[in-house]
Amino acid sequence: MRTPRPSPASAEDLHARLAARITALEDRVRRLEARLALEARKPPLVRTRASASAATVRTARPRPRCPGCTLELPRGRRGESCVWCGFMFAAVTRRRASAPKAPRKQR
Ligand SMILES: [Zn+2]
Repeated sequence: MRTPRPSPASAEDLHARLAARITALEDRVRRLEARLALEARKPPLVRTRASASAATVRTARPRPRCPGCTLELPRGRRGESCVWCGFMFAAVTRRRASAPKAPRKQR
């Protein structure tokens, strides 16, 4: 029986190429396994820290709210009164030593 196979030279070449490729892949797998073992040994710091910080950013430090209208105050410009309803924060925040002797109204 005749089997239609390629010339022995190209078959050898193919074999050699495949062998080289297999060797390279085996080497790669070995390296990856070594790396994986290293990674598994140490605690997963990076991922948990990233997710934790993302979670804390959302929940941490709620914006101050106006005691009058309970709306969140815009960041950055917090004056003496609410920008939404004009509620005077001094009315609820601790008053200064309750000393109305010195007239401090300036407007
Ligand atoms: Zn308000």
